[in-house]
Amino acid sequence: MDLTRTDIYLDGAWVAASSGQTLAVRNPATEEIVATVPAGTAADVDRAVAAARAAFPGWADTAPAERAAALDRLHAALTARAHTVANTVATELGTPLKIAVRVQAGLPLTVLRSYVDLAAEPPAEESVGNSLVVREPVGVVGAITPWNYPLHQVVAKLAPALAAGCTVVLKPSELTPLTAYLLVDAIHEAGFPPGVVNLVPGTGPEVGEAIAAHPDVDMVSFTGSTATGRRISHLAADRIARVALELGGKSANVILDDADLPTAVKVGVGNAFLNSGQTCTAWTRMLVHRDRYDEALALAAKVAEGYRLGDPFDPATRLGPVVSAAQRDRIAGHVARGLADGGRLVAGGPDVPLPERGYFVAPTVIADVDPDSALAQEEVFGPVLAVIPVDDEDAAVAVANNSRYGLAGAVWSADPERALRVARRLRTGAVDINGAPFNPLAPFGGYKQSGLGRELGRYGLDEYLQIKAIQR
Ligand code: NAD
Repeated sequence: MDLTRTDIYLDGAWVAASSGQTLAVRNPATEEIVATVPAGTAADVDRAVAAARAAFPGWADTAPAERAAALDRLHAALTARAHTVANTVATELGTPLKIAVRVQAGLPLTVLRSYVDLAAEPPAEESVGNSLVVREPVGVVGAITPWNYPLHQVVAKLAPALAAGCTVVLKPSELTPLTAYLLVDAIHEAGFPPGVVNLVPGTGPEVGEAIAAHPDVDMVSFTGSTATGRRISHLAADRIARVALELGGKSANVILDDADLPTAVKVGVGNAFLNSGQTCTAWTRMLVHRDRYDEALALAAKVAEGYRLGDPFDPATRLGPVVSAAQRDRIAGHVARGLADGGRLVAGGPDVPLPERGYFVAPTVIADVDPDSALAQEEVFGPVLAVIPVDDEDAAVAVANNSRYGLAGAVWSADPERALRVARRLRTGAVDINGAPFNPLAPFGGYKQSGLGRELGRYGLDEYLQIKAIQR
């Protein structure tokens, strides 16, 4: 299957990029090039921003019901492509197809559906004394996204931005640009006005920086690493542009002494290893009460060793490759450092035999990790779980909060009130108690260096609205 795309999407049409250069997309399970896409340039960004700027007044003035209808048509057009989306993510990222169907293709559709509903309601207006407070779209949004949930992260920005009345210039990750193309095919088919959505693939330093620094981009919505988020903030700060940042994490899974240990460990390991551990919300630090520590380690090792690694298209595969050779080597460095810093290997590690081809990493569990060490502090972004013993509830909270990140987390206890008390003490944007399900309408975002602002649901929509006070 040749997935190559030759054009960029500007002002409602597929057109040639200005440079003629291309970027290769690799299948991480086979290491083969499966497609090329155009390498956009700053000149392409200029054209895309001009189109988005020109389209903004008309789209901002469109009645909410009409915007909702356009998003509804987009939902139908994307649903028709769901199978292709799942196959494409399995190919460009290596997510096992079974999981790709549910998460990589299914989640964006759920999120899009939620914004069909939210777009239909005009933004709430309220009276405060003699003021009428109204909400208006921010303007032209630059959306820059990563590779780990390539379509979801695009939809989590585009859907609320479009619902709010903003226009968009999108740059997907250069490692996984193909599902953004499928989304834009669906946008074209759904009949959005020209210029409302524009797609410029390319690298971060070329296209990403041009978007973040562009004087006519009113807001930059970014998901990716904290280092890039910092750079984008600096660029946007020069013109006081709004930024929304969804960044990295090192989330803690707090297993209290009265928890259902087998469930907590099984779900916890599954969470840490989802998408080969390439998940920003992954619970990559497991904090276990000392009395139950050995039992937890034995359970974690058993779960990890039960993971079947291999071809993403084989239904028996639980764990695909990681995205690139560079990512695989980075993860190996984290594991080596974790062991050198005193961590004890209980599953996986560098000596496990792996498939000959593909960027595979063995599911790895490391015990006795020092809470201040690099393995407990730095985001690995691979299937590597750090387990840390703690003496009591206060110590668990202190270790959980000993992080520059604060994106997600979990608490397990037989006593729901106790779990809630601990959840409230965690300095993090989200906490799941006893494996509660993901809620696509709940605010999603980080404390501390995990980000600024919130995505999803009503909170995600608010990011794309300005507030105006009219006195009368
Ligand atoms: P990254 O920061 O390297 O890249 C993200 C995007 O930014 C890509 O499109 C890239 O091309 C672009 N970019 C790179 N340098 C840039 C620059 N100087 N200026 C503008 N754009 C630039 O991140 P990644 O490796 O693609 O993704 C992994 C990271 O994303 C992890 O840290 C992960 O935790 C984080 N992430 C966070 C969330 C969240 O919602 N909080 C979700 C997924 C991933």
